[in-house]
Amino acid sequence: MRPLTYLRPTDVREAVETIASAQNAKFLGGGTNLVDLIRRDVERPDTVVDITALPLHEVTELADGTLRIGALVRNSHLAAHPLVRTRYPVLTQAILMGASGQLRNMATVGGNLLQRTRCHYFYDTAAACNKREPGTGCAALTGYARNHAILGTSEHCIATHPSDMSVALTALDATVEVESTRGQRRIPIADFHVPPGTTPQVETTLSGDELVTAVEIPPLPAARNSRYRKVRDRASYAFALVSVAAALRVEHDHITEVRLSLGGVATHPWRAARAEEALRGAPATEASFRAAAEAELAAATPQPDNAFKVELARRTITATLRTLTQS
Ligand code: SF4
Repeated sequence: MRPLTYLRPTDVREAVETIASAQNAKFLGGGTNLVDLIRRDVERPDTVVDITALPLHEVTELADGTLRIGALVRNSHLAAHPLVRTRYPVLTQAILMGASGQLRNMATVGGNLLQRTRCHYFYDTAAACNKREPGTGCAALTGYARNHAILGTSEHCIATHPSDMSVALTALDATVEVESTRGQRRIPIADFHVPPGTTPQVETTLSGDELVTAVEIPPLPAARNSRYRKVRDRASYAFALVSVAAALRVEHDHITEVRLSLGGVATHPWRAARAEEALRGAPATEASFRAAAEAELAAATPQPDNAFKVELARRTITATLRTLTQS
């Protein structure tokens, strides 16, 4: 373990000024990912700025019905919140299907958005990994890639984004609020995570000195009929092979509103825009669901080890949408 400086500011201004003036510093929330990465020598900060004393622990409803979630709200608290359970069941389900009870009690909303891939080569400091050490190569491309991505990949990285919560927030068109010494800005979640391209070490549009302070979800009546379905190797405490977050409104047997995003198959939380386009106005039938899934997966670029995810994703999308027509 390398020595590091530990700081614990008590307000947001102090926190962003601290990170702006410190060399090679990281914010620390629940610590459920960063501490592991430091122990494994993957992350090597000289300074850790513990933000858990900041006043960012509240879930509040704004006047227009928007749900505002402080960045330090614990995952378990958010999943259990009555407004989330009734208005956005897909979010409650996604969170409860992630990690374990103990981890959800520690993990924060901001940290969940920023958690890093669980690609085993990323954690193995003896392996080539462009995300950990840019320019060294990608061991997964020639190694074992069963859990890796089939959408949004590049020749430099095929790692999946691990978050379940972020997949649901993507379907719900959440907005991420961030703050730095330059002021505040708001980032639509669709613009928050970025595909690896030629720089897989860059995972978001966040600058190193910006702090996530809140996430906001707009009022979405269709989200009351929503679901998160996760396919994984065991029933709990496992990352997704494929996951689907979906919300559906059907009138006169036709789809009038649909929101669909995928996890476990892509390098970032994946809004299934092609499938949504195919479904809008279509009859709410098995054939429509399957055709939409086909349209979305047409761009898949699987490896031999994870080619099964293409059909698994088609089936999971179809099954999730079918369930929403029965509820
Ligand atoms: Fe690293 Fe990405 Fe390749 Fe995994 S898939 S070894 S994270 S570059």
